[in-house]
Amino acid sequence: MPEYHYKCRSCGNRFSLFYKTYAEFDAAKPVCPNCGRETLSALIQGVQIAAPNRDYTKMSSQEMLSVLESGDSRQVGEMFQQVGGTDPRLGKQYHDATQKLLKGEKIEKVERDLRHNSDAE
Ligand SMILES: [Zn+2]
Repeated sequence: MPEYHYKCRSCGNRFSLFYKTYAEFDAAKPVCPNCGRETLSALIQGVQIAAPNRDYTKMSSQEMLSVLESGDSRQVGEMFQQVGGTDPRLGKQYHDATQKLLKGEKIEKVERDLRHNSDAE
């Protein structure tokens, strides 16, 4: 389960949130549990995005998040493939999304398709 660390820019509170999926993370509008504001910065530490032949299965959730935020479809696709490519529980949608990303389709579009599909279930 991906865990994300945040810092509130209003009150300095630091906290962590868990999301079941990246789509859930994408749709989330987290607020500070201390002051209730949305002035949050995600804390991502020391990640190098462009390193070739990365082993995504050994990445921390923050590193994965930074790959997602890079907006590089192929890189995200590779990550999806390495992390979940052999897990049949993730289902056809996940694997379809992985293939689309590897072909270079925009992440936003692939995520939208994913969300649309899962809403219909
Ligand atoms: Zn706060």
